[in-house]
Amino acid sequence: MRAARRFALAAGLAAALLTSFARAQGNSASERYYRLDDFRRVTKIDAHMHVHGAAEHLLAAARRDNFRILTLNVDYPDFPPLAEQLADAITLKQRYPGRVAFAGTFSVVGFNEPGWTEKAQQQIDAALAGGAVGIKIWKNIGMALKDRDGRYVLPDDARLEPIYSRLEREHVVLLGHQAEPLNCWLPFEKMTVRSDREYFREHPQYYMAAHPEMPSHQSILAARDRMLKAHPALRFEGVHLASLEWDVDRVANFLDRFPDARVDVAARMVHLEYQAVSRRSKVQRFLIRYQDRILYGSDDAYGAQEDTETAAAQVHEDWLRDWRFLVSADRLHSEDFALSFRGLHLPKAVVDKIYRRNAEALFGPDAWH
Ligand SMILES: [Zn+2]
Repeated sequence: MRAARRFALAAGLAAALLTSFARAQGNSASERYYRLDDFRRVTKIDAHMHVHGAAEHLLAAARRDNFRILTLNVDYPDFPPLAEQLADAITLKQRYPGRVAFAGTFSVVGFNEPGWTEKAQQQIDAALAGGAVGIKIWKNIGMALKDRDGRYVLPDDARLEPIYSRLEREHVVLLGHQAEPLNCWLPFEKMTVRSDREYFREHPQYYMAAHPEMPSHQSILAARDRMLKAHPALRFEGVHLASLEWDVDRVANFLDRFPDARVDVAARMVHLEYQAVSRRSKVQRFLIRYQDRILYGSDDAYGAQEDTETAAAQVHEDWLRDWRFLVSADRLHSEDFALSFRGLHLPKAVVDKIYRRNAEALFGPDAWH
């Protein structure tokens, strides 16, 4: 009887201890990790979008989902003319203070004519005067623009030097999209993700495997890196994982070589998902190790003609899918490849940096205030 009672007491004590241990575990897990349904509660920044027009439905979705936006002007023929992109960005920033910030850009039209640099500088002046927090340079440099002799202009071209020097001197962030995913240089059947196959089928002019006369992936990025070496104080963000998306070790190597550079994951989350199929812990380690230097971005382009509930709902879906991949440990599927993978279950502190704090640190505390 006594022994039995003692046993019962001991068992009761053990159960109580287990319960409190479980509660402590539960508490610490909820302190350390977000849940899927924390999505709307957490303030986030999408630091890579292309928003044109009034975008009322998009901004309503951003408010609901607790997203702030950085919209990037791009010298891209499929987008509205640059003057219109800049005017839209300034209007959005004024209309939604604290919600929208923007980066300007410059056109390469007339690059081979005398006076091009001054014209580009004036475009940068106008963007900065309108409140731009950065300047974007696009892949047309390296992949489309040619000099008078028919040679492709690379990112370290002397005519771009005054622009880099000015941004470096004035501490303005340069957002560089140079080259493309490595898939762009591979035959279609070797490409790792469906969306790249689709994009390069639809944009054959940028499909490098079909244009052996055009610069290699390596030569474009080598020119970018030479430029960065020559401008050590330039505040640089390599968008699209600095075009080294196929292996996080490559991105890590870039970040090690340029200790002040940042990268964003815009339109390349799918490549992290692809690597998570077989190397999940490696991707986790990469994001944790470089947690101060990686920015979230969707690269969603939002057209003036497409400002509808449906278009805004699509952006919401994209945002939520990325959140689930970074925050949860759920088993997930992508439309881009057949194999499943698990969410990365990153700690809160890392999620907060990728989703907000790194963008605030890079673009300044006033960018969204
Ligand atoms: Zn983009």
